[in-house]
Amino acid sequence: MLRYHYQSGPAGGKNVKLRRAMELGLPVIRFHKVAPNAYAPIYPVYVVADDVQSREFTLAVDLSLQALPAIAMRSEIERRYAERVVMQRVHQPAFRARVMLAYETRCAVCVLKKAPLLDAAHIIGDSDDMGDAIITNGLSLCKIHHAAYDQNLLGITPDFRVKINSSLLDEIDGPMLRHGLQEMNGRELWLPKAASDRPDIQRIAFRYDQFLAS
Ligand SMILES: [Zn+2]
Repeated sequence: MLRYHYQSGPAGGKNVKLRRAMELGLPVIRFHKVAPNAYAPIYPVYVVADDVQSREFTLAVDLSLQALPAIAMRSEIERRYAERVVMQRVHQPAFRARVMLAYETRCAVCVLKKAPLLDAAHIIGDSDDMGDAIITNGLSLCKIHHAAYDQNLLGITPDFRVKINSSLLDEIDGPMLRHGLQEMNGRELWLPKAASDRPDIQRIAFRYDQFLAS
C-alpha cells in the first residue's frame, strides 16, 4: 500500500478525481519520483481508502494485497508475498529508471544505447542480503552482457575494467563471441557521471572474487 497526500489548496482537482476512481473501482497511474523531473510509472494502481482526518489516500499496487490480513497479523509467508509484490511493482521499476538515467541508457560494457535491449542488473543478486535495489548495486547492461556477468563469463574489476573469462578467450566462433565478448576484455567501463551513482567498490570486489573463483 502506498500513501498519497491530498493535493493542497481547495478540496477539488486531483482529490476529487482520486475519490471518483475509488468509488468506480477504476485504476490510476502513480508516477513515482526517481530523480528530479524523472518518474517511473506504476500501473495499474487502485485507490482503496480515503482518510479525511490525515488527508491522504491509500493506493494498492496490487489488489491481491487487499485480501491479506493487516500487517501486524500477517504470517511469515504472507509478509514475504507482500514484500515480493511491492518489490516487483514499485522498487524494481524505480531501480530500473534510476539506473537507466545514471548510465544514459547505455550498456556499461559495450555502450549499446537501445533501451529495449538493456537491463538494470544487480551487482549482488536481490536474493542476497547485500542485493538491495539501489543504484550503487546496479549496472546498466545489455541482455548478453547481463547474462555473461550473472554467469561469471564476464567480470568487472574493482578499478572498473571488463574481464572476459579465460575459457571464452581461446574459443573460436562467430562475430558475437569475437566482437561482443572477446574484444571487451580489458575495456574500461562506461560509468555514471555522478560519483554517487557509481557502483559500490565493495560489491564489485565481492562479485569479482566470485568471477575469479569460477
Ligand atoms: Zn553490452
